[in-house]
Amino acid sequence: MENTCIFCRIAQGDVPSIRVLENEHVIAIRDVNPQAPVHVLVLPRKHIAGLTQLPADDPIWNYLVRAVQDVAQREQLSGGFRTVVNDGEDGGQTVPHLHLHVLGGRAMNWPPG
Ligand code: 5GP
Ligand code: ZN
Repeated sequence: MENTCIFCRIAQGDVPSIRVLENEHVIAIRDVNPQAPVHVLVLPRKHIAGLTQLPADDPIWNYLVRAVQDVAQREQLSGGFRTVVNDGEDGGQTVPHLHLHVLGGRAMNWPPG
């Protein structure tokens, strides 16, 4: 847990969020600035700065992907959805705590900006 990390503070319950699901390993919250009718962030409870910093043998990736599937089902995204991981400055990452965006409820455009 890092005191200065906003997502650590959210995971800890020190900063409020709207939780879609949670378990021992991950939480899923509604994005404060949604870019689609459904915009949920899935993140590990433990601090990992980003995809680049995820150890190759860390099982957390599996938990994150399972949670994305659960969110899609609960949010009734049966028509499809988009999962995005922004990594680093050029990737557009603004919060340095690994998270997967789940975007849905409308047709997505390609290519992204
Ligand atoms: P990134 O740009 O790092 O891929 O995504 C960070 C996301 O976190 C953005 O979509 C932003 O709207 C969201 N976000 C930033 N601060 C907060 C917060 O305090 N609460 C919630 N729920 N979302 C946040
Ligand atoms: Zn953190």
